Amino acid sequence: MAQVYNWQLGREMDYPYEEHHPDHQFAFVFNTNRCIACQTCTMACKSTWTFSKGQELMWWNNVETKPYGGYPQNWDSKILKLLDEAHSRAGEDMAWGGKKGEKAPYGQYKGMTIFEAAKRSLNPVTQQRVLGYLPTESEWTAPNIFEDNATPYEGGPFGLSKDGASLPEHKTWFFYLQRICNHCTYPGCLAACPRKAIYKRPEDGIVLIDQERCRGYRRCVEACPYKKAMYRPSTRLSEKCVGCYPRIEGKDPQCGGAPMETRCMTSCVGQIRMQGLVKTNKDGSWAEDRKSPLYYLIKVAKVALPLYPQFGTEPNGYYIPPRWVPRDYLKQMFGPGVDQAIDTYTVPDRELLAVLQLFRKDQRIIFSYEIEPGEKRFETTIRGKKFELFNDTVIAFGKDRQELFRTTVEEPFHVRPDKHANSI
Ligand code: SF4
Ligand code: SF4
Ligand code: SF4
Repeated sequence: MAQVYNWQLGREMDYPYEEHHPDHQFAFVFNTNRCIACQTCTMACKSTWTFSKGQELMWWNNVETKPYGGYPQNWDSKILKLLDEAHSRAGEDMAWGGKKGEKAPYGQYKGMTIFEAAKRSLNPVTQQRVLGYLPTESEWTAPNIFEDNATPYEGGPFGLSKDGASLPEHKTWFFYLQRICNHCTYPGCLAACPRKAIYKRPEDGIVLIDQERCRGYRRCVEACPYKKAMYRPSTRLSEKCVGCYPRIEGKDPQCGGAPMETRCMTSCVGQIRMQGLVKTNKDGSWAEDRKSPLYYLIKVAKVALPLYPQFGTEPNGYYIPPRWVPRDYLKQMFGPGVDQAIDTYTVPDRELLAVLQLFRKDQRIIFSYEIEPGEKRFETTIRGKKFELFNDTVIAFGKDRQELFRTTVEEPFHVRPDKHANSI
């Protein structure tokens, strides 16, 4: 295996192929605090790409209620269990440690990734290159199982809470986890494919399955730790999220040639999603791009974190974690950056508050932003920290620096004229 650098783990790791990085990388941020589980994103993808015969159980986008929900069922607890067993056999720990720095923003992951665990226990019969499992058919049914089911309430009589609920953590909790393919930097699906049918596009890092080369061996389904490669029985081929690449290329008739965010992103009712293209250096590190909203949220403010970074695929989907969920659970899911991310999000500074207004005001991809200072409107203390609200204006720019829109931190207040029958 080759040695590649995974910045989310803060170290080199084993991967079957040498490093090759795209010029830009498809990436996105989901704010779990805002999602209402309306499933509009799920249906937007379904009605665009997977409505044909054999695609009934393909939900390239899904929104699951954690901790019990999952599509396929128990996908994350199953792969975590396999990793845990591999560590127990090796007498090792899935721990994080070491110093944080520019090349290791979350410190260093000391445990094994899904590639390293497979290498250490390489089975000469199956030659499994990536630790994984194939879900059963029944696990691919009921994509919305356990929706809105909370953890049990351990309270007083009649299930009524004597203390109510308050931050930082609630005794009874659930939250919505939005999921699409992460268009990983080191995809498990690509590593496992014996036909070399899976590739990353050099222009945007979108991961695709070549339908001509695929023979439906389902190694990708087995190896994707997020279970986002799916098998279509009617064609006997595997398929996956295509990152809505015609929209990224500016070929959607609606966008007049400008790169446009994907269908699941632009349909988001809760305005929780932002997708874009981040500039990458030749070595795969992110080029400094201080005014890109994704760069700012992920690399500067560090409020958005990768999903299960310990798997080792360097996923390009990032999540602002939910504030009310027990921290141990969140740290297992999003890594050691959780405390800092939640503290920063709960008491946002002036720039973060402005950047958060950029979510879902336009369908075109935002490449950069600028902030015009506005008046101070409000000041208070939140959890011991000073918070000030300025009514700044944030301006979003597209690929060629054309202005896409401008919006303010305070929502504008409109009063309908009397001539409308339902005016108050
Ligand atoms: S999320 Fe899964 S299917 Fe998508 S690129 Fe990563 S390994 Fe492949
Ligand atoms: S990016 Fe496009 S193809 Fe992928 S889940 Fe979203 S809508 Fe579906
Ligand atoms: S459309 Fe947005 S708010 Fe609705 S379920 Fe999807 S991510 Fe959540």
